[in-house]
Amino acid sequence: MGEMGECSASSKPSDEIWAKLVQSDSRYSDVEIRSDEGEICSEISATSSDKHSWCKIVRNSDLCSATMENKSSNAILVDGAEVGNGDTVVIKDGSEIVPGPDREGFVSYRFHIMSSPEACQRQLKICVDVEHAKCSICLNIWHDVVTVAPCLHNFCNGCFSEWLRRSQEKRSTVLCPQCRAVVQFVGKNHFLRTIAEDMVRADSSLRRSPDEVALLDTYASVRSNLVIGSVKKSRKRANTTLDDQSDGTNHHCPQCVTVVGGFRCNHNTVHLQCQACGGMMPSRNGSSVPQYCSGCDRSFCGAYWNSLGVTRSGSFPVCSSDTLRPISEHTISRIPLLAHENNVHEQNITESCIRQMGRTLPDVISEWIAKLNNKEIDTTRMMLNHAEMITARTSVCSDCYQKLVSFLLYWFRISIPKHLLPPEASTREDCWYGYACRTQHRSEEHALKRNHVCRPTRGSQF
Ligand SMILES: [Zn+2]
Ligand SMILES: [Zn+2]
Ligand SMILES: [Zn+2]
Ligand SMILES: [Zn+2]
Ligand SMILES: [Zn+2]
Ligand SMILES: [Zn+2]
Repeated sequence: MGEMGECSASSKPSDEIWAKLVQSDSRYSDVEIRSDEGEICSEISATSSDKHSWCKIVRNSDLCSATMENKSSNAILVDGAEVGNGDTVVIKDGSEIVPGPDREGFVSYRFHIMSSPEACQRQLKICVDVEHAKCSICLNIWHDVVTVAPCLHNFCNGCFSEWLRRSQEKRSTVLCPQCRAVVQFVGKNHFLRTIAEDMVRADSSLRRSPDEVALLDTYASVRSNLVIGSVKKSRKRANTTLDDQSDGTNHHCPQCVTVVGGFRCNHNTVHLQCQACGGMMPSRNGSSVPQYCSGCDRSFCGAYWNSLGVTRSGSFPVCSSDTLRPISEHTISRIPLLAHENNVHEQNITESCIRQMGRTLPDVISEWIAKLNNKEIDTTRMMLNHAEMITARTSVCSDCYQKLVSFLLYWFRISIPKHLLPPEASTREDCWYGYACRTQHRSEEHALKRNHVCRPTRGSQF
């Protein structure tokens, strides 16, 4: 006769049982789970009455699922799928759990949640890609997330606060660490915070150590919504007087002050903030002069002010025309860091191919821009908005131009027959995961050994 299994956790007997592991063989008792987080200690095989601690079950905040972590050295079967040692899986009411790699000889449990079904139905289920919930400074899931405006990017409070402190030491404007837009506001984002906390709870591998979290919290300085500096023309000390503030934001735009090219802003004019210099320009919908980059839909002032003959003066931030211009007018002198998924080895190979062919990078790029113009290239992998519309005459920002060049270099590289590659590269086999391979970023050896400028043939959705 088997004994009753146990859920080892510091649960008080008064805690309500919220879930059970029910054995398929009714001679055995159920394992009752009271604590929100408990390690399960019970028989794992039908032939032994020894109790082993073999998994940990953590209640999820939706109250109708839990996360099971395999704490045993065996694989565990959950609804027929193997969960390896240390891996986690979400289990639901009715999930079948077998604490061994095959059914044979192992006890089978069914997970049963006691809470009322109504409680579950009230929860709206959403799917979020964890990659979209990561801070671009520390690359972890947001902790105490803050949102900056106007670009609305999100960061850990601690990470952004450190960035803010360093920016303020150096310069008057604070740029978004993700997109370089001037940050005017930052505030805590309570909605995203809940989502981030749920994610970390659902997958313990996303969790940081308590020490890391504590350190991050010591950096955190955003307590409520902050107005960060402004795009004012001159540097002012933090303790600006009322007079300084009363000149308002309109003064950041030259056309608010004076008629330029027959136009002057009025109090209703909608302004766009340039994402490069932080300056303001009136939104001129009817104008043929581009105010947005077609690759990223962000606004840049260079082309607009250039068309009106307005240049940077002491009083207004105004970009030079190179922040936004037609693709054919951009220049390139070196292979972008983004090229070949940031793989430096592949970039070097491409560079030496260009050299061996007696060509230059600008020459190769203009050849491939011509092919793009003639719709000879498949644009599905071009990481720009409106990719199918892009031609040599499309205006883009410098960032988008670098992305475009990287895209074209991919096509250039795969057009080169293998025997024309440098000797060390010509004998390499393609990595199965192709450009999507993650190991190329982690292992120098792997990056050298396999070609990664190719399509994935395995393990990928591409
Ligand atoms: Zn962070
Ligand atoms: Zn941003
Ligand atoms: Zn204006
Ligand atoms: Zn752009
Ligand atoms: Zn600008
Ligand atoms: Zn690889």
